[in-house]
Amino acid sequence: MKKILVAGGGGFIGGSLVSSLLADGFDVRSVDVKPVGNWYQAHAGAENLELDLMDRDSCDKAADGVDEAYNLAADMGGMGFIENNKAACMLSSLITTNLLLAARDHGVGRLFYSSSACVYAADHQTSPEVTALRESDAYPAQPEDGYGWEKLFGERMCRHFTEDYGLETRVARYHNVYGPNGTWQGGREKAPAAICRKVAHAKRTGDHTIDVWGDGLQTRSFMYIDDCVEGTRRLMDSDITEPLNVGSSELVSINTLVDTVAAIADIEVTRRHDLTAPQGVRGRNSDNTLILEKMGWEPSITLEHGLRKTYEWIESQMDAEE
Ligand code: NAD
Repeated sequence: MKKILVAGGGGFIGGSLVSSLLADGFDVRSVDVKPVGNWYQAHAGAENLELDLMDRDSCDKAADGVDEAYNLAADMGGMGFIENNKAACMLSSLITTNLLLAARDHGVGRLFYSSSACVYAADHQTSPEVTALRESDAYPAQPEDGYGWEKLFGERMCRHFTEDYGLETRVARYHNVYGPNGTWQGGREKAPAAICRKVAHAKRTGDHTIDVWGDGLQTRSFMYIDDCVEGTRRLMDSDITEPLNVGSSELVSINTLVDTVAAIADIEVTRRHDLTAPQGVRGRNSDNTLILEKMGWEPSITLEHGLRKTYEWIESQMDAEE
């Protein structure tokens, strides 16, 4: 069986990817900068290592003896984090670069890089009634400041490591991933987890007024974690060498997201819109023409289904904290 490295295995997507790889019998090395006790999922069947992958020596340890590597390690979070921590987001380029160098030097057969819809040019995302983003919309470059530039740089590094050194790379542009076992409080959480937490808190306290960032008319698509892991593994195993959208094309407004979670919780909520909070682009959706053409597959788990699982998990976390 192949030996697979998952960088960022203590994080949200990394933890679920390790679970999926272990279930298929792979020999998995999972690496994260956080102490193993703080990982969302630390799987006993994997080799779990605490290493700072900004450091080249750590990347060498991580890549040694590995057949394939998934890079999901980054210093990141939702809009509240990336708008206020641009330098920290860009420092993830050290992880990207050192892991590519280590993969090249240790003869890793293939490397997966987790890019983002934040690479897309801002001009294409100014209206809630968006035209879904095609892969070609990343250029001319005008990505999200900080975080998006780092991702675009990472994509280019992958391309040039393939061209110049023959290292095979695969690049996914994820669109908003959500689900259980991810960040749901503390400032790095993304909209689906934040809304689930606020609605669950409203239900507990009986105070049904919740804060919503922006006017709620901004639109997004959200991909459930199971679709994300499946898309990631399908892409890794494919011969697709260009960056590819891996995202849901079910477009909703943030107000609809709130309504859906409130219906799951079976309560009515009153929204208090905070127009000064970070909101990101006005509208964003994933054009799945290319993924369908190349893979004959696209993320299809409905928002309602995924939010129900996420809401239940966040409620269980709140129970545990109490
Ligand atoms: P996450 O924050 O849950 O996981 C990232 C992990 O990387 C964390 O556990 C963190 O501790 C680890 N990490 C950070 N710096 C490190 C370092 N120096 N050395 C080793 N590990 C380090 O985030 P996630 O949601 O699982 O995202 C995984 C990847 O997917 C990231 O590259 C992210 O930018 C990308 N992405 C995620 C989304 C999303 O909606 N979740 C969307 C687009 C792209």
